[in-house]
Amino acid sequence: MEPKPDLLAKERKPSVEVTSTSLTCHHDRHRGRPRRSSGPRSTSADETVERMNVRMRLLEAGISPTIQRLEIGRIVLRGPLHISADNLYHQLENGSFPISRATIYNTLKLFVQKGLLRAIVVSPERVFYDSTTGHHHHFYDVETGELIDIPAEEVTVTRYPTPPPDMRTEEVDVLIKVRRTA
Ligand SMILES: [Zn+2]
Repeated sequence: MEPKPDLLAKERKPSVEVTSTSLTCHHDRHRGRPRRSSGPRSTSADETVERMNVRMRLLEAGISPTIQRLEIGRIVLRGPLHISADNLYHQLENGSFPISRATIYNTLKLFVQKGLLRAIVVSPERVFYDSTTGHHHHFYDVETGELIDIPAEEVTVTRYPTPPPDMRTEEVDVLIKVRRTA
């Protein structure tokens, strides 16, 4: 009953072409489908569902789901995550998905513009992309370069300067730089 490997290899790509009617699929509905097995190959079916979810999110955000955008979305929209463009580049490269840095930057910028990601600028050369787009703050580990989420309600800013004339404060993002004590 194991699906043939070559059949699976082909099935990984059509997820790009899946119609919106297929997007209602949930994991349990795959039961009994020939391509779903309890072996390691089930990853492929999960991947297909994952790709469909990403595709739906892109469409909902008004983004045309190109293969590159789907592949990037599959990494950056997976769950709570902070990622740099460099890290993303290496992950795609290791996954044997050739893509230019320019495409990565443009896609990340587009995802931010469309509200799928939030850019966290630690310094001009350290920009992170955050898949948690709701308001929250961060600890930044200066040694590991890691960002850790702080729920918005855990920070109270009691006083901050009045914005320049004709400007209003849009949001206050707190970035607390931390370092290991030992
Ligand atoms: Zn965050």
